[in-house]
Amino acid sequence: MKCTFCEREEKNTATELWATDDGQSVEVARSRDVSVEDPWNPDGKIICESCYQQGRVSRYNASDLLEIHTQFGLEYLHADQPEKAETAFREALQIKTTADGLANLACCLSKLDRNTEAKNLYLLALDMDKDHFIARNNLANIQRLHR
Ligand SMILES: [Zn+2]
Repeated sequence: MKCTFCEREEKNTATELWATDDGQSVEVARSRDVSVEDPWNPDGKIICESCYQQGRVSRYNASDLLEIHTQFGLEYLHADQPEKAETAFREALQIKTTADGLANLACCLSKLDRNTEAKNLYLLALDMDKDHFIARNNLANIQRLHR
């Protein structure tokens, strides 16, 4: 798949088998390059990390940008780059504050061992959506591990 902006081909995509908690195996696409689907060209274009970092996505409207920043944040988390994930999640929250967005950022901060900040964000997420499953679950974990 090629990047919409620079036409660079995404490299090193392979699948890997992962075991889920209930013992099933799922095929997960593994790619060394961090990239997300282009919301304007969902049939096969991507936005590569370097174009994203250069701010080339600024032409998108707010709801697409929200999606792009969120997806990059999640990709960075999966790629074990929580510092970059934090920046992306904060960009998303500047566009719109949602319970999901707050929980994503909290998850990222807790990977960075910033558990007090994470806890406060989970509480904010629960203020917006008292049934937010991830926020409720992760907050309980933090409170159990870091009293
Ligand atoms: Zn690109």
